[in-house]
Amino acid sequence: MPSPVRVRFAPSPTGFLHVGSGHSALANWLVARHTGGEFLLRIEDTDAERDRPELIQNVLDMLEWLGLKWDNTPPRQSERHDLYAGAAAKLLADGAVYPCECTGEQVQARNKEAGGKPGYDGFCRDRGLEPGPGRALRFRTPREGRTGWTDLVRGEISFANADIEDFVVQRSNGAPMFLLANAFDDADMGITHVIRGEDHVNSTPKYLLLLGALGLTAPEAFAHMPLLVNEGRKKLSKRRDDVSMADYRDRGYLPEAMVNYLALLGWGPDDGVEVRPIAEIVERYRLEDVNASPAFFDQKKLTFVNAEKIRALPVDEFIDRATPFLALGEPAVEALRSMAVEVQERVRTLAEVEPMIEFLVVDEPVMDEASWTKAVTKGKAVPEMLAATVARLDALPADGWVPDQIEAAVRSAAVDAGIVNAEGEPQLSKAQGPVRVAISGRTVGPPLWESLAVLGRARTIDRLRAMQGKLD
Ligand code: GLU
Repeated sequence: MPSPVRVRFAPSPTGFLHVGSGHSALANWLVARHTGGEFLLRIEDTDAERDRPELIQNVLDMLEWLGLKWDNTPPRQSERHDLYAGAAAKLLADGAVYPCECTGEQVQARNKEAGGKPGYDGFCRDRGLEPGPGRALRFRTPREGRTGWTDLVRGEISFANADIEDFVVQRSNGAPMFLLANAFDDADMGITHVIRGEDHVNSTPKYLLLLGALGLTAPEAFAHMPLLVNEGRKKLSKRRDDVSMADYRDRGYLPEAMVNYLALLGWGPDDGVEVRPIAEIVERYRLEDVNASPAFFDQKKLTFVNAEKIRALPVDEFIDRATPFLALGEPAVEALRSMAVEVQERVRTLAEVEPMIEFLVVDEPVMDEASWTKAVTKGKAVPEMLAATVARLDALPADGWVPDQIEAAVRSAAVDAGIVNAEGEPQLSKAQGPVRVAISGRTVGPPLWESLAVLGRARTIDRLRAMQGKLD
């Protein structure tokens, strides 16, 4: 067993958990569990405007939903401002930061005039201003040397200090900047491995300079996880892509599928078995094997993994987990129970369950237009097939309303209607189409014979007749 790590996930209260943040949270959790270490949570709510409890609740709910249990009572940065003020005061006393009274507009105007690069130009660096209201504190970045680290995912990374601007550590209103709180807290919490998204790579040298100036120990290692991108290889965006974890839950994805799929982004097990229990992923996961290149968040593959996880559930558990998705309530649960195994094999998400069994619950099936066109408008000998099916099913004895005999009756009906191949065998796929659409409104669904058996003779024949009526 590698030595235990102490890692943390440090969400800001954004009101939702982004799948990319979920990816980082999972990497932290996996490494903690793999090493027998600790997975800590910290709420980074230094930004007062966003400090509303409901904005973090969804993030916590989603971590719980994913099964990423944390091992501490999460500290909130909004309750620790005194500590950051103390750290800033120490930096000031040591000359590591200096007061600055420039406004953003002033800095921009000077940069524009000088035609130089963006960022702070060091205007107040040597002015010897006293600290006070309206004055921020900026870090006095060394002009020489480099700051770097070994990244478990990216290898050696370093930045020339001359390229790092004198960044703000405390705002002009006295509030701490994210970076100060973030670096201070990691040291304070004894974090050994900082695992976070690629978007933080550029701030890591500032983080390290700050810790050095505070005389605090830096974490042993960093790992900056790959960026998640869409099929156009563009960074996932809230506007364009489905990035909210809660939306996936609401659309019927299982947490174990989401966790399994997220683990595969930038990483794969050495034996190539991708869909597997989380305990096996914990056993095999190593940050050193994570690939730094952007990873494609492929919803199709996620859906495939989800379907596999659904099929792997014991059938009773499948019913329990599908139940919250059944808007039609108890009758739908009953209907699902009557053909759970067949439905379980065919759905890819829990949200697909109800449309598949709805025909058993509602008075009249909801007609899907594309299905009608495909099986009825473009169908072969449809009126003949409907008439023959009604006659054959009607003729079944009372105890004959079972899948086998229903199948035999529909096969005979296909022959009666002349839907046969060159050998005179019934062409079942063609013959079934209109029957299926008549009873369920759709061309896809659970197997037909079982569906009719559950629907019952009276309702089946009514629906076949209703379709005959529509065709007349
Ligand atoms: N609070 C930061 C964010 O939500 C995370 C910073 C970190 O993980 O170091 O992006």
